[in-house]
Amino acid sequence: MDRAAAARALGVAPTASAAEVKKAYHARAREHHPDKGGDAEAFKRAKAAYDVLTGAAGGVGPGASPVAHPPRPPAPPRPTRATLTVSLAELCTGCVKRVRFERTRFPKGCAVRPCAACAGRGVAVRVVRLGPHVQQHIQSPCAACQGTGRTADGGAREAAQVDVAVPRGARHGHVVQIRGEGEQRAGEARAADLLVEVRQAKDPEWTREGDDLRIAKSLTLGEALLGTQLRLDVPGREGGPLHARVEGVVRHGERRRIRGLGVRPPRRPAGDVVVELAVQMPSELSEAQRAALAEAFPPPEASSPAPTHTLERAEP
Ligand SMILES: [Zn+2]
Repeated sequence: MDRAAAARALGVAPTASAAEVKKAYHARAREHHPDKGGDAEAFKRAKAAYDVLTGAAGGVGPGASPVAHPPRPPAPPRPTRATLTVSLAELCTGCVKRVRFERTRFPKGCAVRPCAACAGRGVAVRVVRLGPHVQQHIQSPCAACQGTGRTADGGAREAAQVDVAVPRGARHGHVVQIRGEGEQRAGEARAADLLVEVRQAKDPEWTREGDDLRIAKSLTLGEALLGTQLRLDVPGREGGPLHARVEGVVRHGERRRIRGLGVRPPRRPAGDVVVELAVQMPSELSEAQRAALAEAFPPPEASSPAPTHTLERAEP
């Protein structure tokens, strides 16, 4: 079907505007829609005529434009992503680490030509059938040329490595942006940016809560009652471990903290070191311990009736 035939089929002038063509097509489609008992052939003809006049048919017949719309300038390149895993100590102090990843690069001055996969349009069109007579054209950026419409010889994947500066106190998930170190597309001088997501490797002892550094420690009953001292290897701390006094009485599950010795980011208040204390009860007592405890903590007078039952140990 050429333009003139298409215009006749819709009952519009060959020079009709896009709005007139659309209006005429909608009227025909309503009239002939097969779901409403219309003539399926007439409906298909109206659709084909509409496609020719709007260019959606893509180069069918003389007069039809082979390109529906002038090619749009390709979207700016999407940044390339990489991840970098560092220790909790490295997040606390900040560090410079090398990240390795893959990217496509083109040699300087290579000849650029239109992409064969999309004929230089930069878009791939997929036809989705919504019903027996209705189909939808879905456009997406061409995968072969990443939407640029261009290819060039010599483009190759390469192993790349870039040094990434992780700022002091950065959090798990912090993203460092590095200009121009990502993927390159054919015919573009400047490559995409590289976004490096910084992840924290799990620490065997310490966990981070906001800017607090938390550790679990267990105390004997004696330590919990009489006080003790703990050695704390705080991640990222200069000058060796901390030796912190724990003054009794400590309840099981109690949290104690040292203010300001947690993560110290440059523009936020410093976090704390938080110690979660578990109290390990002795499994049994010697006679001497019983006697000493009875003297220190005299049990109440036995005034209640003689016991009738004993509470057994229950599994937790
Ligand atoms: Zn393409």
